[in-house]
Amino acid sequence: TSFQELGLKAPLLRQLEKLQYQTPTPIQQACIPILLQKKDIMGLAQTGTGKTAAFALPLLQLLAEDRQQLRPHCVRALILSPTRELAAQIHDNIVAYGKGLDIRSAVVFGGVGYTPQEKLLARGLDILVATPGRLIDHLNRKMVNLNHVETFILDEADRMLDMGFAPDIRKITAVIPARRHTQLFSATMPDNIRKLAQSMLHQPETVVI
Ligand code: AMP
Repeated sequence: TSFQELGLKAPLLRQLEKLQYQTPTPIQQACIPILLQKKDIMGLAQTGTGKTAAFALPLLQLLAEDRQQLRPHCVRALILSPTRELAAQIHDNIVAYGKGLDIRSAVVFGGVGYTPQEKLLARGLDILVATPGRLIDHLNRKMVNLNHVETFILDEADRMLDMGFAPDIRKITAVIPARRHTQLFSATMPDNIRKLAQSMLHQPETVVI
């Protein structure tokens, strides 16, 4: 199967060619068609499997096909990640895949100043990658508005819960719309992840790699 057969189109295919991604990995083969249909997903996969592209490529295509005027401080797609390294990596990938698509994205995490992040948030974003703690800080400071989030992705959800981010995740899900496209990725499926999935996902497809 090729990326084209999975439903991806020209601008993304060109970027993948440049990056020398020749064949989709198993998680990409399984996830991309499901996500292009805007179905919720529970993905069980480790890092190194190509998980980032599995959610980032369909997201970029859907946003580019349904372009909208960005509202100040608002975010169309929110990706939560447990650590700043992982968040930065996801964002780097999004920038690389999305070249030429005119998608406005940013990454925010703790340990650095607020002002540059606030400037990025102020204009509104198609995609925001964030660690939970810093996102809550921006919410409290009214620098980000999550009331119009269309797509919500939790990456490495098991690690986020292990790191004690459950209350932050609850605060975030409380302010984003109930009707949204939700994607949960986790390396393991302990009870707390099963419960989180039950509470967050709407008729999800499950993908196990
Ligand atoms: P991830 O699991 O998302 O952290 O990705 C692991 C590594 O594989 C990253 O360096 C990606 O750039 C790379 N990668 C992801 N998908 C593909 C693919 N289909 N072909 C070649 N490399 C890929």
